[in-house]
Amino acid sequence: MKLKDRKPGKVPFYVYYIIAVVIIFLINLLVVPSIREKSIITTDYTTFLKEVDAGRVTKAEVQTDYIYYTENQSGMEVLYKTVRMEDADLVQRLYKNGTSMEGVVPQRENIFLSLILGYVVPIAAFILLGRWLSKKMMNSMGGAGGMMSFGKSNAKVYVKSSTGIKFSDVAGEDEAKELLTEIVDYLHNPQKYTEIGASMPKGALLVGPPGTGKTLLAKAVAGEAEVPFFSISGSEFVEMFVGMGAAKVRDLFKQANEKAPCIVFIDEIDTVGKKRDGSGFSGNDEREQTLNQLLAEMDGFDGSKGVVILAATNRPDSLDPALLRPGRFDRRIPVELPDLKGREEILKVHARKIKVSDAVRFDEIAKAASGASGADLANIVNEAALRAVRDGRKFATQADFEESIEVVIAGYQKKSRVLSNKEKLIVAYHEVGHALVAARQTDSAPVHKITIIPRTSGALGYTMQVDEKEHFLLTKEELENKIATLTGGRAAEEIIFHSITTGASNDIEQATKIARAMISRYGMSDAFDMVAMETMTNQYLGGDSSLSCSFETQTRLDQMVVDLVTRQHEKAKKILEENIQKLHQLAQYLYEHETITGEEFMTILHAPLPGIPQSNDASEAEVKGTEE
Ligand code: ADP
Ligand code: MG
Ligand code: ZN
Repeated sequence: MKLKDRKPGKVPFYVYYIIAVVIIFLINLLVVPSIREKSIITTDYTTFLKEVDAGRVTKAEVQTDYIYYTENQSGMEVLYKTVRMEDADLVQRLYKNGTSMEGVVPQRENIFLSLILGYVVPIAAFILLGRWLSKKMMNSMGGAGGMMSFGKSNAKVYVKSSTGIKFSDVAGEDEAKELLTEIVDYLHNPQKYTEIGASMPKGALLVGPPGTGKTLLAKAVAGEAEVPFFSISGSEFVEMFVGMGAAKVRDLFKQANEKAPCIVFIDEIDTVGKKRDGSGFSGNDEREQTLNQLLAEMDGFDGSKGVVILAATNRPDSLDPALLRPGRFDRRIPVELPDLKGREEILKVHARKIKVSDAVRFDEIAKAASGASGADLANIVNEAALRAVRDGRKFATQADFEESIEVVIAGYQKKSRVLSNKEKLIVAYHEVGHALVAARQTDSAPVHKITIIPRTSGALGYTMQVDEKEHFLLTKEELENKIATLTGGRAAEEIIFHSITTGASNDIEQATKIARAMISRYGMSDAFDMVAMETMTNQYLGGDSSLSCSFETQTRLDQMVVDLVTRQHEKAKKILEENIQKLHQLAQYLYEHETITGEEFMTILHAPLPGIPQSNDASEAEVKGTEE
């Protein structure tokens, strides 16, 4: 929205110009003479005649009622005024004394020219200068927006052809692509969905670490969907004046409603969507208003109209919970760091743009770049091409890629986690330890997926368990098994490597929490029976608990928690020792593939054991054997 498209009732510019000229002309006509009047000394007629006779009057201007005359007093012209009398001799007398006579105001003769020079030209010059300055100011304030259009959203509208990015340009990230494809399909054939009565989620939130292709995915949606695509970054809502961000949000949604079906994409939504803090003195009313407006707009429009809101963030935990509640961004699309296969695909996608030797093994490169994000990989490919040019080659070779990994990874080491092979192996055993303990305990839920791709959260690996059905009531055995599963990771490290690492801190925290709650809140110990030692406060905000028992009881309680966890830890170790071959097999598989699905896990777990020699102490050989 430029300010050029004039509103219907707007007065044309030249009208203001004419008004200005007239006002200034009137001021000159009425006010200036009265100022001039003030500096005139009034005398009587006799004085005037005496002065004329003395020859001191240089000039006399005879008007209807007054005579203005000037005298030269030590080089200065002094103006006098006197009443005009009936005096037939006056002309004679003036002439005799050499006074020059004037009848009218001299300027009146070239009134037209003086009007032009005096008013029209200067005013026009000022107005042109003003317009030029304000234009300059607008440009420096950022493009189409600027001073005159505060509160207008400057969302860029893409239609199909303009981004040119397709889903095929995004490698890996199959889950995310699938979910987004559904949204695109809905916008193309809404009747397919409305016939059943299904309505699309109003919003989808792309969540993942930086550089994993969230913005790229959104652009691909724009490229695939043949509907208008409004793209705006969260930071563009943050404005100089309070209330302007909210106005921008309003404007954006107004535009979107007019253009429906369409997609609105808000990148880096955490800049506006941060948690509101209750203090009230935070001083950022602006951001809060913007967020409130966003929430209101998302509630306000009707989902069947076909406006889909996409947003991206790499800090989902800092988002205001109100944004995440159903009816707003109720679909969360995880965009994770790519695994081995994903990395290979991303490398291939980007290698299409450069010339590459046929001998390049992308799987090898992908393996060496474990932990790299999509953006890192794109960078690696580009570095390799640059190296090839530097060395005067026509295409990039394997060596180029290998060297560029070092450059990029070393450059990124501080930022993103890249695991050494030994660390990767330890993490693989740790995660399989959790999963194996879970699977071998009858009541534990089966494993859904294990990955050893580092998370931005700090966890080095991740075991995702799925509960078959919603569980609200947990038995004592289930809770104990949970603790055993949590200790399974550390147990595997102990059995295989005979040493322990820092990788289990989160497990320890969780296990302690469960064990403590079992005794102090759920009454699952014989010693305390059904006496509550702790009460929960603030159920909805974090859930703090406060102790309410004597000091001795506290000491006893702590000891019981330790006993409980130790018992489960021993149990986990026993399970793993009994299944040591499966542990090796699964960990090796995970180490090589970086991801293992629940099905693959179960297949390996249930497969008959191959005739490999049984050994409890395979650590040295294992580590050495795989590190190359
Ligand atoms: P994010 O928004 O998640 O921080 P971007 O979408 O800006 O990351 O990604 C930065 C760049 O990294 C992209 O322009 C693209 O070149 C590359 N990239 C990231 N992920 C992928 C992917 N899955 N497939 C292909 N290229 C990717
Ligand atoms: Mg981005
Ligand atoms: Zn763990």
